[in-house]
Amino acid sequence: MYDVRYSYLLEQFADPAPILAEIGRLVATGDFTLGKPVAEFERRFAELIGTRHAIGVGSGTDALKLPLKALGIGHGDEVITAANTFIATVGAIAETGATPVLVDCDDSFCMNVDHVEAAITEKTKAIMPVQLTGEVVDMVRLMKIAERHNIPVVEDACQGILSEFAGKRSGTYGIAAGFSLHPLKNLNVWGDAGVVVTNDDAMNERLRLIRNHGMKNRDEIAILGCNSRLDSVQAVVGNWLVGQTHEITRRRIDNAAYYDAGFAHVAGLRVPPRRANVRHVYHLYMVFAERRDELYQYCLDNGVEAKIHYPIPLYQQEGLKHLGYAAGRFPETDRHAREVISFPVDQHLMRAQQDRVIDTVRKFYDGR
Ligand SMILES: *Cc1c(COP(=O)(O)O)cnc(C)c1O
Repeated sequence: MYDVRYSYLLEQFADPAPILAEIGRLVATGDFTLGKPVAEFERRFAELIGTRHAIGVGSGTDALKLPLKALGIGHGDEVITAANTFIATVGAIAETGATPVLVDCDDSFCMNVDHVEAAITEKTKAIMPVQLTGEVVDMVRLMKIAERHNIPVVEDACQGILSEFAGKRSGTYGIAAGFSLHPLKNLNVWGDAGVVVTNDDAMNERLRLIRNHGMKNRDEIAILGCNSRLDSVQAVVGNWLVGQTHEITRRRIDNAAYYDAGFAHVAGLRVPPRRANVRHVYHLYMVFAERRDELYQYCLDNGVEAKIHYPIPLYQQEGLKHLGYAAGRFPETDRHAREVISFPVDQHLMRAQQDRVIDTVRKFYDGR
């Protein structure tokens, strides 16, 4: 229906036969929970990110919530995170019983580290930076602040697989990090799934208990946990794809560079600063647009499926009213909600489609 579609899932899984054959072999073993494919995926994912451990869980949201629970965070505690993020970050914090404390962002789409220290109180028990769009928070400065205050950092790296700050991968800075394998993420499976990575042996052990009811073995419960295991079936899909992650990332970066060049001289569109010490992996290709709503509609009307991530700031949502933030409290987040637009940047996108996007945007601004 669109000449330039946003979702590439039909292309990516156009030939499911090899995956289905592997699932067929799994079915023949009955190894459905925490079986061999899960262990294999965890080993390969840890190797991909460069951490000692990877623990498969039920979703990206749980990959954020479980490390917080492993740190003992709950009622009465505060966790600092970004005001402009996907709801899952704030939801994961709230599910532990802790209060999410938001800080504003900057043009990197990530939290503005300048605001973090002012948000710290004696109740702050963790900081959860979000590597939004595949950009990266200034992790060096953030870790210094966290260490000075002795506060653990749990990264929301759900959009940031293989992104880097100062040559070091997202997911390797804090005590733990959560990744999502949701169908819309860069490394995606056929439903909900997530992974936690950590270099900390004690954290690894606690996470393995928590995701499986706190069961030490068949008969003994070590701690109270929950049911959040990575499904063996999804692990099979993950194993099929995980080896392609570097190539997927390379293509996305390449596509983004092509857009950057194409949009460089389009008055009305502003490409955010590209920092030399960041490896942005372009989960989203997001730019700032004048007359954004008009441009968005113009793109849809002309066959280009653009998206807006996200049109309403979380802190202004009905479901987060109880956090008590007044309108205008996060001016940068508000501005982003008005100005951002995302174009498809996935590994299956073709140059002709990118040209079509660039031409459409040019035409819109030329016609004014
Ligand atoms: C997708 C996402 C999540 C949650 O992942 P799910 O697998 O959908 O639970 C959390 N944070 C961010 C920033 C995300 O984009």
